[in-house]
Amino acid sequence: MMAQWIYLNGSYVQKENAMISVYDHGFLYGDGIFEGIRIYNGNIFKCKEHLDRLYDSAKSIMLDIPLAYEEMKSVLIETVRKNELRDGYIRLVVSRGPGDLGLDPRRSPKANVVIIVEQLAIYPEEAYLNGLKTVSVSTRRNIPDALNPKIKSLNYLNNILVKIQANLAGVGEAIMLNSQGFVAEGSSDNIFIIKRGIVFTPPCYCGALEGITRAAIIEICQKIGIPCKEEPFTLHDVYVADEVFFTGTAAEVIAVREVDARTIGEGKAGPITTRLLKEFRAVVEVDGAKVYDIN
Ligand code: PMP
Repeated sequence: MMAQWIYLNGSYVQKENAMISVYDHGFLYGDGIFEGIRIYNGNIFKCKEHLDRLYDSAKSIMLDIPLAYEEMKSVLIETVRKNELRDGYIRLVVSRGPGDLGLDPRRSPKANVVIIVEQLAIYPEEAYLNGLKTVSVSTRRNIPDALNPKIKSLNYLNNILVKIQANLAGVGEAIMLNSQGFVAEGSSDNIFIIKRGIVFTPPCYCGALEGITRAAIIEICQKIGIPCKEEPFTLHDVYVADEVFFTGTAAEVIAVREVDARTIGEGKAGPITTRLLKEFRAVVEVDGAKVYDIN
C-alpha cells in the first residue's frame, strides 16, 4: 500500500496525522464547503469548474479561503502528484476553522483547508448496462431561501436523510422532491429524464446542485444535437419517461431501470443514456487540468 499524503493547511501529512480541532466549525456546525473531483488518467476533470464552484460557495457563505485561486489549483495538482495517482477521487474541504462553542464565524479567523486524494469505489460496469433501482423519498430538498442547494456546503444532513431512506428501501440512490413537489435531484447526484427524444433536467431553482457532470451532459447534448431542456417536472413525468439517469462525479452517467416499482423504458440503460455515457467518457481524460505533464 502506497503512502497516502493529505494536504493540510500548507503541509503534506500522512493520513493518521491528518487531524484538525474538535472546535472546528465544520465539525461543530457543518460550517464549510467542499468539492468532489475526479482524476481520469492524470487529468483533473473540469478542474476550473470545480474551483469556480468552490470559490462561489465560499463567497456565498462569506468564508475566506486562505489560498488564492491559482495557488489552490497548484496545491490540488501537487497533492495528486504526491500520491502518484492517475485515476481517483479528490475531496477538497474548506471549513470555517476552529472557533469557540458559539455560532459566530467571526471567532473562527482561520479556515482549514484539506485535500484528500483516494482511489474511488465505483459502480460495477453491470450497473451502467442494467441501470439502478431507485425510489422517491419523503424528505424534501432544502428550500433555497433557507439553505440554497447551489452552495456545496458541509451541511449535508438533508442529503444524509435521503440516503438513510434509500438505505431502508435497499437502493443506492433516491429521488428527492422540492417543497412544491417538483423533482429536485438525488441524494448526491443530479437527475435527468428522456421523453420522445428530448432530455430534461430540473432547473437549479428546483433544488438541484449546479452539478459539473450535469453541465457536461447538457454541453454534450448541445454538441451532438440531442435536445436538452432545463424544465421542472414531477414524479409522474419520471414514471412515464422513456429513460432516466443520474449524473455525478462518482456515478458519471448511470441509468435507472425502476422508480417506485415502475419499470422505466425497457428496464435497462436506454439508447440515449448509453450514448451520453459514451460521449462523456470520451472527454473525461482531456477536459481539465493535466497533473503530470506540466512543469
Ligand atoms: N447533487 C448533489 C447534492 C451532490 O452532492 C452532487 C455531487 N456528488 C451532485 C448533485 C452532482 O454534482 P457533480 O456532477 O458536480 O458531482
